[in-house]
Amino acid sequence: MRTDLLKSARRIVVKLGTGVLTDSQKRPELPQMRQLVAQVAGLRKQGREVVIITSGAVGSGMGELGLGQRPADLATLQACAAVGQSQLMATYEKLFKRHKLSVAQVLLTHEDLEDHTRHFNARATLKRLLELGVIPIINENDAVSTTELKFGDNDRLSALTATLLSADLLFILTTVDGVIDHFGEPDARRIPLIECITQSVENLAGGTQSATAVGGMKTKIIAARIAVRAGIPLVIASGRNTRVLKDVISGKDEGTLFLPDKRGLTARQRWIAFFNRPAGKLEVDQGAKQALLDRPTSLLLAGVKRVGDFSKGDVVSVCDAKGKEFARGVVRHSGSDIRARQVSHPVIIHRDHLVVL
Ligand code: GLU
Repeated sequence: MRTDLLKSARRIVVKLGTGVLTDSQKRPELPQMRQLVAQVAGLRKQGREVVIITSGAVGSGMGELGLGQRPADLATLQACAAVGQSQLMATYEKLFKRHKLSVAQVLLTHEDLEDHTRHFNARATLKRLLELGVIPIINENDAVSTTELKFGDNDRLSALTATLLSADLLFILTTVDGVIDHFGEPDARRIPLIECITQSVENLAGGTQSATAVGGMKTKIIAARIAVRAGIPLVIASGRNTRVLKDVISGKDEGTLFLPDKRGLTARQRWIAFFNRPAGKLEVDQGAKQALLDRPTSLLLAGVKRVGDFSKGDVVSVCDAKGKEFARGVVRHSGSDIRARQVSHPVIIHRDHLVVL
């Protein structure tokens, strides 16, 4: 099963974290980038399509500008990213040329993926690049956007890109061997397989101690949730291992494999679940929650408890009595109409436009 899933992967997204691309001086670490580029070139030679999500722009910029500490203010951080990004791309271009491969820089913001037209434009461009045999190298557009600077080291961006492109496999390459139980303790142990992201899996994830990287395991688990729910297997593994991509794909027990969710999602449901910022919240009772979890069904007015402010047609978060979001969907009525119970039809969210997360 593990082997089939990985061996047959045709379109692969590989995310390279800051820690695997830069050295202790925060400069692009050449031998390390060389070996990662060789690994990606190896996948291309097997006829697979590869998209790289690169971090390391802030780290490289810090090195170039002689900053030992990660800047505390956003403007300096963004300036570092702008300086580091061109350095990184120059390095990638040179290294891939040796393998006779062309690269393309694509800088994205989360807003690009949320806006319907820009989302499909980005997808069309990336697909065309892949058809042309080019390796797209994507980073967040850190000079103007702050999502990953604040929340993660491109982890979420990598899962969203894999979803956008309906990738067959996502690699998050980092400085650790995978998800580690008892991290930093003598009985530390790599977890080879995660079939379901439970609360205890979430509890394994701590923040990062690194001076450059901001993500740590927490944002990787958030990324894993997106990829897995979109039906894409994800492997978190060490980017310091010079054979990691090949070994994992051939079925060797490396890193941590997250199995994809079997429920599957239509393109429309992926859009609702991951690329929209919910406009408001709807709280439902336990009976309605259970019904939605049990089978594909519509949310009816009777199960709705508390209602936020949103307009008809918005994507909203569906939460349980504890306020925990468990689904998202497109509402058929505005928040004020639902609150006033003034709806022409009892269906609040139709099942075709509702996704249990
Ligand atoms: N996109 C950022 C980079 O390439 C993320 C890492 C960070 O915030 O340090 O550097």
